[in-house]
Amino acid sequence: MKVVLENLTKKFPSRTKGGSDVIAVNDFNFEIPDGQLIGLLGPSGCGKSTCLNLLSGLQTPTSGKIYFGDDDVTNLPPENRGVGLVFQNYALYPHLTVKQNIMFPLQNLKGADKLSKPEMEEKALEAAKLVQIDGLMDRKPSELSGGQQQRVAIARALVKMPRLLLLDEPLSNLDARLRLQTREEIRRIQNETNITTVFVTHDQEEAMSISDMIVVMKDGVLQQIGKPQDVYDSPVNLFVAKFLGTPPINVFVGRVEGEKVWIGDEAVAEAKGVSDQPVYIGIRPEGFELSKEGTLTCNLSRVEVMGRDISVISTHKDAETEAIRSIIDADNLESIVGATVKFEIKPHKILIFNKETEERIYIGE
Ligand code: ADP
Ligand code: MG
Repeated sequence: MKVVLENLTKKFPSRTKGGSDVIAVNDFNFEIPDGQLIGLLGPSGCGKSTCLNLLSGLQTPTSGKIYFGDDDVTNLPPENRGVGLVFQNYALYPHLTVKQNIMFPLQNLKGADKLSKPEMEEKALEAAKLVQIDGLMDRKPSELSGGQQQRVAIARALVKMPRLLLLDEPLSNLDARLRLQTREEIRRIQNETNITTVFVTHDQEEAMSISDMIVVMKDGVLQQIGKPQDVYDSPVNLFVAKFLGTPPINVFVGRVEGEKVWIGDEAVAEAKGVSDQPVYIGIRPEGFELSKEGTLTCNLSRVEVMGRDISVISTHKDAETEAIRSIIDADNLESIVGATVKFEIKPHKILIFNKETEERIYIGE
């Protein structure tokens, strides 16, 4: 089922007297295609949970509409929306077994939807198999690891076969290894069930790795929506450029002059068609190449060997960040000698942003 957000806005009254309202979700317009997994991504407080709560019906919008398929569900209560919810804290009932926890949503079904006990047990088992915890049905939550508890929560959200699955930072309470494993698991389950899914996270790597599309937000405002790779390659502004990528993008203060990009007194790239102006220059770590004739000269701090690649850490007086991180092919290790390094910049890895608006005005070709 596709989901459409139309002029969706949620304001909260200020918590301090005389302060201005908080616009947690500011005029969202986008469509979530049927059967896709969308990552809602942004720093803490940017409105991700509010957006999810509007989709689930736990909160009502200040204005705007939500459509599930062609149905306007804006005023439909949560229990009639057919959504499955998973939160960061698994929120399982501690006194119930895994099986009882998963069956719980089925027990409130009324009228024609009412199920017999064997029917409920069968559906619970199906959901448990999907998340691979069918061997743990008689345990209590306290007898499970964090990862297993979160699987139970996912099974519980799936047991009614929701039209929309909503996950709010579902991996945040898990340790690093489990986080990785569980996110792959979520992707697998989503692929198998094909349920349209919205996955909220502040972790860009997590969002990039499992989403069909990511929605990047800041202060309640949608910044960019697109395929993870496209957003990474062509961020619309400096915020998005900085938010995506590890190691992060390297940012320099410089200028465009005579259709060339200048960092200090070095012209590092072409900028065809861009008028003379002060700019921010963003270069991804993989955008540098070591070269004796390189156009950008940096002060070498150290070299970190990572096996296949090496990471050259350097500094430059016009860099915004303290350390410039570049990822270089390990074969080039010998060419690093002396106190300075010279880089050639791969043209398509250079991003130019207006100094004032911080909007992207140029990508190299
Ligand atoms: P996120 O999930 O991205 O961390 P939230 O959606 O929880 O962000 O919050 C977005 C903004 O709305 C924050 O500034 C937060 O303080 C504010 N906010 C959220 N819920 C409420 C509420 N019930 N009352 C007032 N302000 C709220
Ligand atoms: Mg949140």
